[in-house]
Amino acid sequence: MRLIIMGPPGAGKGTQAKFIAEHFGIPAISTGDIFRANVSEGTPLGIEAKRFMDAGEYVPDEVTNKMVRNRIDEKDAERGFLLDGYPRTVAQVEELDGMIAFTGHQLDAVLVLTVDQDEIVNRLLQRAQVEGRADDTEDVIRRRQELYVQETEPLIEVYRDRSICREVDGMGEVDEVTQRIFEALDDMPES
Ligand code: AMP
Repeated sequence: MRLIIMGPPGAGKGTQAKFIAEHFGIPAISTGDIFRANVSEGTPLGIEAKRFMDAGEYVPDEVTNKMVRNRIDEKDAERGFLLDGYPRTVAQVEELDGMIAFTGHQLDAVLVLTVDQDEIVNRLLQRAQVEGRADDTEDVIRRRQELYVQETEPLIEVYRDRSICREVDGMGEVDEVTQRIFEALDDMPES
């Protein structure tokens, strides 16, 4: 099963992605997490990505696409995956379509978490304190939200047109949201 989780920065995608992935027995693939791991390890990819991430900008498509292609080629993603943080641009949507078509599979659903903008800024500022992420300062948060609205939100329409979007209210307690997500995906096969 091939799924995407979408929503603005701070919508709770990473938290929910872990629950969904565990439930369906597929890996949760977070491009942000992979970039951050590369930054910590000081790999060439991490060095390249860091300057974009610290500014709240998107890492260039060629770099990101290649990284995702390599990751979904790994054995654990053979039976499916849940993408968190990818695609974020129209070019990435097209690239992902190609990657999935190449394996003879299809994208089964795009889960969209809807949230209240003010609530999000609070969540992100809280996360900044807990996790100490370099890209959780107020200016950078604002830039990431702006980019989301300009570049990524329009992708929801693309997937709506394909009738594979499942929109879920992302407000409230974590387990309430998880419950709503499972209800929205209850026709998906568990593996
Ligand atoms: P995230 O953890 O998903 O918020 O991602 C953190 C940062 O990693 C983003 O602000 C971008 O700089 C970079 N990043 C993650 N995913 C992508 C992507 N699909 N395309 C471009 N940059 C990305």
